[in-house]
Amino acid sequence: MSLLAIRDLHAEVAGFEILRGVDLEVRSGEVHALMGPNGSGKSTLAHVLMGRHDYRVTAGSVTIDGVELLELPTWQRAARGLFVAMQYPVEVAGVPVADLLGAAIRARGDQRDGFDVAAIAGRVQAEATRVGVPVDLLPRGVNAEFSGGEQKRMETLQLAVLEPAFAVLDEIDSGLDVDALRDVSRRIEAMTVERNLGVLAITHYARLLTELRPDRVHVLMGGRIVTSGGPELAQDLERTGYEGLATQLGVQELTLEQPSAPDPFAEPGF
Ligand code: ADP
Ligand code: MG
Repeated sequence: MSLLAIRDLHAEVAGFEILRGVDLEVRSGEVHALMGPNGSGKSTLAHVLMGRHDYRVTAGSVTIDGVELLELPTWQRAARGLFVAMQYPVEVAGVPVADLLGAAIRARGDQRDGFDVAAIAGRVQAEATRVGVPVDLLPRGVNAEFSGGEQKRMETLQLAVLEPAFAVLDEIDSGLDVDALRDVSRRIEAMTVERNLGVLAITHYARLLTELRPDRVHVLMGGRIVTSGGPELAQDLERTGYEGLATQLGVQELTLEQPSAPDPFAEPGF
């Protein structure tokens, strides 16, 4: 059993404070959903957790089982068991996914059986079938000319092969059709059961959470978690929208954009 603990996390980008005191704990096997309007800081949190260089942490801590991650370079955070699926996955030209994952597994010094080159290739094949990545994409560079849906399936494949302790999924459901959404969310849900994976799923849609069932739902507004609840909170949000919830809670600042503009996608159902 492991614990990912985010405590009073403050971070800025380009001299502007985006995260303004985020507190969140995820345990092995748990699914936490993080929702919030566009520009509320969700992706910033994902970037800061993995140590993106242009994001500056000004206070707080992020630990896995008491080990401070904020002092570690990105690859060591991964070696400690953290995985982040980016909202916009990057293309790795000329490097097939099995080579990428092999390098990642060797870099973390993993000596477990089933992590040699042939075994990794076999696992990549098996996962490709399971998450619906066409096998003819496997020899290509990761994400090279992939569709949006193929990229998100590919992120899921990488997650399944790497077997981290915790996965932060930044809108893994965006751009997915219903079949892809089902495949991806079922695969991740199975990992929480079979491998005790802890998940922080950033999403706009309660639909993802029908297969990937959250234990807790948190709402981020203005760089802070303004409320948390059970799965019903995601359903309530579909009805009230973020504006409605903000009014109920007396929250002034929904987003961090300056000057603040009305969010055209903030209506219920979007
Ligand atoms: P969300 O994922 O919730 O939509 P983000 O974390 O992407 O929100 O962005 C929060 C705010 O931080 C936005 O106003 C965005 O413009 C700003 N921001 C994020 N990353 C950068 C960056 N690299 N440079 C400048 N501003 C940024
Ligand atoms: Mg985002």
